[in-house]
Amino acid sequence: MTKPSCRNLVLVLGDQLDHEHPALAEADPGQDVVLMIETAGEAAYVQSHKHRITVFLSAMRHYAEHLRTSGWKVVYRELEEQVPSIASGLGDAVEVLAPDALWLTEPGEWRLLHGIRTQAAALDLECRIFEDSHFLCSHDAFEEWAQGRKNLVMEYFYREMRKHHGILMEDGKPAGGKWNFDKENRDSFGCNGPTHLPDARRFEPDVMTQDVMEAVERHFPEHPGSLENFGWPVTREEALEALEHFIDTRITRFGRYQDAMWAGEPFLYHALISSSMNLKLLNPGEAIEAAEQAWRKDGERAPIAAVEGFVRQILGWREFIRGVYWREMPGYRDLNHFEHDIPLPGFFWNADTPMNCLAQAFGDTLDNGYAHHIQRLMVIGNYATLTGLDPQAVCDWYLGIYVDAVEWVELPNTLGMALHGDGGIVGSKPYVASGSYINRMSNYCSDCTYDVTARSGDGACPFNSLYWDFLARHREEMSSTPRMRMVLKNLDRWSAEEVEAIQEHARAHRKSLHG
Ligand code: FAD
Ligand code: SF4
Repeated sequence: MTKPSCRNLVLVLGDQLDHEHPALAEADPGQDVVLMIETAGEAAYVQSHKHRITVFLSAMRHYAEHLRTSGWKVVYRELEEQVPSIASGLGDAVEVLAPDALWLTEPGEWRLLHGIRTQAAALDLECRIFEDSHFLCSHDAFEEWAQGRKNLVMEYFYREMRKHHGILMEDGKPAGGKWNFDKENRDSFGCNGPTHLPDARRFEPDVMTQDVMEAVERHFPEHPGSLENFGWPVTREEALEALEHFIDTRITRFGRYQDAMWAGEPFLYHALISSSMNLKLLNPGEAIEAAEQAWRKDGERAPIAAVEGFVRQILGWREFIRGVYWREMPGYRDLNHFEHDIPLPGFFWNADTPMNCLAQAFGDTLDNGYAHHIQRLMVIGNYATLTGLDPQAVCDWYLGIYVDAVEWVELPNTLGMALHGDGGIVGSKPYVASGSYINRMSNYCSDCTYDVTARSGDGACPFNSLYWDFLARHREEMSSTPRMRMVLKNLDRWSAEEVEAIQEHARAHRKSLHG
């Protein structure tokens, strides 16, 4: 490294590529130096998909180039330099540049925040941490909303956010006459499958991305995924184009088919902007504004149910999930409400399973570093909960495998929403379902070796026996809601022999997972 003079060292992390970066907004290109570090440690501490590593590193290199052309001095440590960790890269930079202070925006992971603070203290370096202005709800605002509530219910948080930011509001009332259009957003496809499905907007890798892809193949040959079909946005321009493409071509059917699944169609009508938003190439406010404007301009092309569904995901779920993460960490990560401990089966890494729904969801995931929400929640997550897989291993898998995974958003979605491992902080009840839900929402079962109508015996769908076994084992807890009490009545109607046959089928399935 050459030695530029340096007042503040501004550390920019891989998921902080904002065009309005809070620390850079106050820094001075004439006196301050930007530090960006690629480390193998960050890519490998959970087994990361090759698309995920490429998205992060390519977006970082493009961002560094943009900063340089805007007049910043940037110290950029590439993977080839083999910097073992962010802390050690920081130590190197401080030794060479001797800055007066370290500036950074708060990281998206508790582990990094803690590690950087500790390293700054060890280096005797003043450390100024800027609040992340990317989000629409600050930590203080979330805390103020959450304080004193017995349960944190996303729906109430979301309504407050709508009112506070004046989004989809008309004369103080929710646009379209109601807050929630969920009921209209649960259709499945007919037997002919999705219609009017536009191609997803994919981006041809430029020379810089190709360099990153080569480096990823060299450094992480054993990591999951193949880079042949890499096409994720890595610059702000591409991210804006992806958003525009969604609004122009897919939003019409986004809401209605939000929960639907179809074999061989990994993207359906989803927006494909989560990696861009989580890297901060795109602001949540921009995405919300684009959807609301589309509805105001043409409510047929952008129906209120679709637009409200989209806004709910970003203004509601995304902000709520972040609030929960920072409120509950660091203890949250270790919660294991059901005391599940079964290791992950091998098909999480190769999709090699006769259960077609899982083979499709894992296949899509391994091909693209992406699966849409219902595949993550009601296929893979549902299976992990019903089977009793170790929640920390499941969370590590989700954190490594998806292009949009950053711990603040991955962890509460996986441990809380999908696995109910937090005992009800994110959701009041587990999202569990039998094979009939998957059959209703997809065409997976028609091409599966298992019989989705059977609960036990040879060839019965494992989701069925695992579901009823789960309800039987957690009967008391599950009976706390009226809807579940109705479902549990089925167990009482069946003979003891039938229930035992179902539970034996579930036990045999679990046993088969590890030989
Ligand atoms: P769309 O379906 O088109 O939705 C639009 C946007 O809404 C998304 O881009 C995303 O920013 C936001 N959004 C939707 N649902 C959620 C949610 N539950 N939490 C936060 N934001 C949401 N999302 C991540 O960004 N990173 C993760 O690591 C992640 N892990 C998940 C793990 C599990 C087990 C589950 C059930 C969900 C997870 N999600 C995660 C949420 C959601 O599945 C993804 O945001 C979505 O699939 C991304 O694809 P998309 O951009 O096409 O989204
Ligand atoms: Fe999945 Fe069962 Fe349907 Fe097969 S039959 S696809 S295992 S839900």
